[in-house]
Amino acid sequence: MPDISLWNICNNKCVMCTNPKEYSNSNPLGNYDIKTQIKKLKLYIKGINVYNSNFDKKNYINITGGEPTLHPDFLRFITYLRKELSEIPITLLTNGRSFSNEKFLTKFVSVAKPPFTVAVSFHSYDKKTFEKITGIKNSYEQTVNGIKNIALKFKGELEIRIVIHKLNIKELDKTILFLKDFLLGYKNWRITIIHYEIEGISEKNKRKIYLKLSKSAQKIYSIKDILKGINLRLYHFPLCVLNKNLRKYAWITLPKEERIYTYKCKGCKLKKKCLGLMKRYYELYGDAELKTIRE
Ligand code: SF4
Repeated sequence: MPDISLWNICNNKCVMCTNPKEYSNSNPLGNYDIKTQIKKLKLYIKGINVYNSNFDKKNYINITGGEPTLHPDFLRFITYLRKELSEIPITLLTNGRSFSNEKFLTKFVSVAKPPFTVAVSFHSYDKKTFEKITGIKNSYEQTVNGIKNIALKFKGELEIRIVIHKLNIKELDKTILFLKDFLLGYKNWRITIIHYEIEGISEKNKRKIYLKLSKSAQKIYSIKDILKGINLRLYHFPLCVLNKNLRKYAWITLPKEERIYTYKCKGCKLKKKCLGLMKRYYELYGDAELKTIRE
């Protein structure tokens, strides 16, 4: 099943967003009519590759944007998906702000039946850093309240996604502690730490947010005690830059065409389970951080 980008509008302007700049303005770029989306999905279910993706047979749907929850027909779309594809796991990628609205939350919870994950981007425990990243005043309060509401009322899973880069890496420990404290007592949550991708808006901001994978990995290892007991995932890391004990948390989530195995990967015993390097990262910064694992 595909990644479905519901539309291109977003009410945040994140520095590390991988969408093109036009995505955050208020003019839709194309036809994002919900009927069209549903028609496409019906064709896809019949086996027609309408999304021009590698027609993989994975049984899940990711709903992305822009910010999908702002689409006027968002709830109707979720209702349709859940009715037609009741067994398929759905993940909604969101900035979480809409969930601070109780009315929206109540409607969402009534239609978004499990298996369903709400994945909320969270940037920092600190309001100043958070809003420096989103570019929007008071987005911090709305996101925090949104997460709180999801944790309290939603029966599916809650994933907190922290995309790390130069602006928020230093305080990652405090951010994790904040979330741990905040989500204590709620069962179905996990934290995914993601090294930022260089594409779209983040490509334009690449100097401002520059962070090496090895620095990211070192920081994560340095806070291993804080991470203990958390349902953790790590995205976009080559296994050799991670400490041995962290490798089990790494996932391969990027398509083949967006990553590369360099000459250092030849003969590496971890290659089969490894993401390799993000292609754009390799083009800009090379592969000096990689180490062939032989035993
Ligand atoms: S050398 Fe290549 S295959 Fe081996 S762990 Fe590093 S990135 Fe992965």
